[in-house]
Amino acid sequence: MYTELSNEINEWCDEVVSQETAGLLDSGECSPLPLYQEICQKGWMNYANIAEDKQYFFHLAEVCKVANAYSGVLGNMICVNSACAMILGAFGNAEAKQFAQGIIEGKKLAAFSLTEPQAGTDVNNIQASATLDGDEWVIDGEKYLVTGAMLADAILVVVKTNPDVATKNGSSMLLVSTRSKGMEITPTPKMSANGYASCHIRFTGCRAPSDRIIGKVNGAWAAMSMAGGIERVLVAACCVGLCKRIGEYLYEYSNDRIVDGKPLYELSNIRHQIVDIAIKVRAADALVGQAISALASGTNATNAVCAAKVFAAQMQQEVSMTAMNVMGGRAYLKAYPVERWLREGLLSLWAGGTNELQKNLMSRSPFDR
Ligand SMILES: Cc1cc2nc3c(=O)[nH]c(=O)nc-3n(C[C@H](O)[C@H](O)[C@H](O)COP(=O)(O)OP(=O)(O)OC[C@H]3O[C@@H](n4cnc5c(N)ncnc54)[C@H](O)[C@@H]3O)c2cc1C
Repeated sequence: MYTELSNEINEWCDEVVSQETAGLLDSGECSPLPLYQEICQKGWMNYANIAEDKQYFFHLAEVCKVANAYSGVLGNMICVNSACAMILGAFGNAEAKQFAQGIIEGKKLAAFSLTEPQAGTDVNNIQASATLDGDEWVIDGEKYLVTGAMLADAILVVVKTNPDVATKNGSSMLLVSTRSKGMEITPTPKMSANGYASCHIRFTGCRAPSDRIIGKVNGAWAAMSMAGGIERVLVAACCVGLCKRIGEYLYEYSNDRIVDGKPLYELSNIRHQIVDIAIKVRAADALVGQAISALASGTNATNAVCAAKVFAAQMQQEVSMTAMNVMGGRAYLKAYPVERWLREGLLSLWAGGTNELQKNLMSRSPFDR
């Protein structure tokens, strides 16, 4: 259904995101900003404007699939910024909505910050806080693994605003400018996608205007739930795109590589491993489609979203290891893309929450739609 869009993005990626560029984005020697801005200029980030048309979500997933197949940094950047734009569009005031439009047009960048050094899966343990002082919020505490914070103009930060109750009822979301005093952002080196750094942030008496609240005071949960759903589906879409690319690469490689006078692909064990990738990609893609349909219909999408994320992330790990096996020792070399794909693909284990978290969510009612 989206072949035309995929072809268009593929064509652009083929032209501008070479293996060398992807390697430089991965190591952090090259900034993704010019490429990202071009993506916006081409109108592909406009699909994050689901307020205009919920069906855009399908197109956005397609953008993620293709971009992530070429560079994890680009896939990551599209996921983070489109999730932020969707949250701002759905829960923000007029100024926040304008910021969301800026993201879509490539004039602004955002990041999302929930995790803390002591609070990951256990969101109830977040301790960063904000208190109102006149018409300003005063923020204190630490945030961790905030992807894209170094490039962002503002960060969506989840803070406790009522310390006496659990995060679900006692936290708020603020849009905090990265130019604010009392905010120190430090990149944390990671095993891949260093061009889009994940950062440690320290807030010390950092002030934000009171109208920077996104949603209601103590009402961050609604926006967090939306963010979780979007991120999980887009991460799953990224896995579909990367696994398809890995499968296609292995198909080509194994037809070219001659072993015992015959193409590697003629060995049934090799062929079957590649066909298994094609089957898994189809299944994961179908689950992504189901999850987006559920999100777009406004019904409870938890099971559909979590199922897509778990299946796709698991597939990603399996496909990456299959590639290491099919390629033989060359897979281990930097001269080939497979080792980078393995490292990039590992992110799906944690992005949008771990698979264990998704299973915990599904275990409440696993067979509901
Ligand atoms: C590269 C990268 C980028 C990231 N970007 C962002 C970002 O931009 N913004 C942001 O807010 N966060 C971000 N994160 C954080 C990410 O969301 C967390 O890593 C993830 O939620 C897991 O939390 P944790 O790392 O603290 O692991 P932990 O919570 O310490 O979990 C450790 C292990 O225990 C398991 N576990 C924990 N609790 C349970 C439970 N109740 N039941 C079953 N198993 C459990 C987990 O599944 C995991 O296997 C990023 C992480 C990475 C690695």
